[in-house]
Amino acid sequence: MAQRDTEQDAEQAGLEQARELLSAAGRVTVLTGAGVSTDSGIPDFRGPQGVWTKNPAAERIWTFEHYRDDDEVRRAAWQERVEHPMWTARPGPAHDALVALERSGKLVALLTQNIDELHQAAGSSPDSVLELHGSNHHTVCLTCRAVTPMVEALDRVRAGEDDPRCPHCGGVLKATTIMFGEMLDVEVLGRAREAALACDVFLAVGTSLGVHPAAGLVDIAAMAGAEVVIVNAEPTPYDRIASVVLRGGISQVLPAIV
Ligand code: NAD
Repeated sequence: MAQRDTEQDAEQAGLEQARELLSAAGRVTVLTGAGVSTDSGIPDFRGPQGVWTKNPAAERIWTFEHYRDDDEVRRAAWQERVEHPMWTARPGPAHDALVALERSGKLVALLTQNIDELHQAAGSSPDSVLELHGSNHHTVCLTCRAVTPMVEALDRVRAGEDDPRCPHCGGVLKATTIMFGEMLDVEVLGRAREAALACDVFLAVGTSLGVHPAAGLVDIAAMAGAEVVIVNAEPTPYDRIASVVLRGGISQVLPAIV
């Protein structure tokens, strides 16, 4: 009982410290990961209910080389995509809290590793959202680079095609996401680094901080003198350099500190 009281006191103290840091800050940069969308029904990769935690073999369909070269991997990927909860998911309290942060005028940029566009659906301005890993809402042809809405390809899968090809040239279609084995967009990454350099507080939310170069943005912000606040249920490699680490549920913690 006494131990639980101590843990609750520590959590409360952490919440207050985070609130004070954010309230004193003039410029806040936020990095989000899959954890901000789990309460919207989209599983993360590495959390306890994560897609890869439950099925490590699923990693293959997120790896560019396998996806490009193996039509069996592509068929599995399309089946996974068409059944994905992303298409009906709605933003939650965490997304809303970040809209409020933007409206307060403090937000430098919202850097997200998510590909679900839920920040924009909540009302974050598309100009302030930097999608480090792209978006799942379009496809790109690996041959002619034509970009088309994902919904068109999904409709074709629902109609019976198991590996829909480019409507222009017949090439392989993939989502406009950055898969493992692909480079991040240089311009997007450059703008993200500038935002990490330009903040007083760097807030990392719902990310295991295990994927680079996105996770390295924490280093950049910390080395430039920003206070780092981490909100994540599980430990991350950056907890030791953070001013505050909060382990509570994101949908509760974020509205409480922003
Ligand atoms: P991750 O799966 O590696 O880590 C998510 C972290 O969030 C975990 O440590 C987990 O403990 C924590 N978490 C989950 N729900 C939480 C909650 N309600 N409260 C507190 N903590 C919670 O995710 P990542 O670091 O973003 O890296 C995974 C990669 O997969 C990213 O590149 C991302 O693009 C992609 N991804 C995106 C989505 C999406 O768009 N929603 C979903 C799955 C994976």
